[in-house]
Amino acid sequence: MDGSKFVILGGGMVAGYAAKLLVKLGLKPGELTILSADNSVPYERPPLSKGFLAGKDSEEAIRINPEDFYRKHGIELKLECEISAVDSKRKRLTLKSGGEYSFDKLIIATGARPRRLNIPGADLTNLYYLRTLDDSTAIRNSLEEAKHAVVIGGGFIGMEVAAVLTQKEIDVTMVLSADRISPRLFSPEMSSFFEGYYAAHGVRFVKNTTVTELRGDNAVSSVVLANGQTVSCDMVVAGIGVQPAIEMLTNSGLEVGDGVMVNEYLESSQPDVLAAGDVANYQDVLFGKRRRVEHWDNAVSQGQYCARALMGERSPFRHVPYFFSDVFDLSYEYWGDSSGADQIVYRGDFSDKSFSVWWLHKSVVVAAFTMNRPDEERDAAPKWIETRQMVSAGRLKDPSQPIAAALGRT
Ligand code: NAP
Repeated sequence: MDGSKFVILGGGMVAGYAAKLLVKLGLKPGELTILSADNSVPYERPPLSKGFLAGKDSEEAIRINPEDFYRKHGIELKLECEISAVDSKRKRLTLKSGGEYSFDKLIIATGARPRRLNIPGADLTNLYYLRTLDDSTAIRNSLEEAKHAVVIGGGFIGMEVAAVLTQKEIDVTMVLSADRISPRLFSPEMSSFFEGYYAAHGVRFVKNTTVTELRGDNAVSSVVLANGQTVSCDMVVAGIGVQPAIEMLTNSGLEVGDGVMVNEYLESSQPDVLAAGDVANYQDVLFGKRRRVEHWDNAVSQGQYCARALMGERSPFRHVPYFFSDVFDLSYEYWGDSSGADQIVYRGDFSDKSFSVWWLHKSVVVAAFTMNRPDEERDAAPKWIETRQMVSAGRLKDPSQPIAAALGRT
């Protein structure tokens, strides 16, 4: 039976960054196998809804490691290799193509899959989801012909794809199930800022409704909404969230729920099996709660954490959740978790697209957003969240004072 000392199940960003660091840490040839269902060597996902989609980045430019990196370092990278079952006690993986694969230590990094529309017409062509390089390439190829697009969902994919399509001079209608854009992430003031920015670029919003049917012969030519409206289009992109890819873990002996349940060391309920990235539901020691994070930074930092763990290090995964986004000419960053906040402080000016937003809980900074702000604000955000820094809201909102002047409650 084939097997390897270390196996990473999933060929995404966790695998790419773990492999890169493992090599630096002294991985020996033949010690690591990556089993990937994808058909490409591990690549960065953020450009798929930004620069790659817009045609600015090439496939080569978005690879995490050069194509020959794996062979050069004796890492076996098995592409288009699907796993149908995991036996964590016997330390065996069942390959869909037949046979088993053994491991001493396993990292589960299977990621997540896009939620799909389950409505009449969902089998028509020109309906796209965006997760893989192939998905992004398919959308990119359709942009030449398209004139009118419907984007379903106002989350990350919705916002980023709508911005790219609009810049390709495609007329975009966004369909939001909520009454504003990204309500889980943004305050009403922030949603209003972004909606105004999108509208100024020509994007139309239809809010408080869902798509009930897609119509067309072979390709989608219109979408029917629950509010009775019909919107004509040549293409539809649905960004309606993802679900952790855990179907191969039924009967694995691992505790699964909303992802693979792991502790603060990213260790699963079975020895020598860790999980990382979108699929890992981990114990966050900074916030004292469980979370599953579906962002690039989490995949990178947990991939690197797993590399160290495979080499024998063991200390809790301590990390302030972080993500960034680029839409039109705006770039923003976001740290922390605003869910427990009881106060929001704005600093800077919405009208000149330069502001930061600080979420406080009992005067302690729990989350922060910055866009076009001085480096001192970007630097303060993760540090203050990690150290549970208390601030004065009054001084924090005064941009004429350096950010450090906000420290201390009074
Ligand atoms: P998402 O950010 O979770 O947003 C999904 C959105 O779709 C939510 O606003 C949700 O509204 C809405 N929705 C759900 N069902 C709907 C329906 N039937 N009709 C209309 N809207 C519906 O997920 P995503 O945008 O699909 O992105 C997929 C994944 O890629 C996420 O994990 C995301 O973090 C990741 N990603 C990240 C970045 C980044 O970090 N910059 C960029 C791209 C993608 P409710 O809130 O009301 O359910």
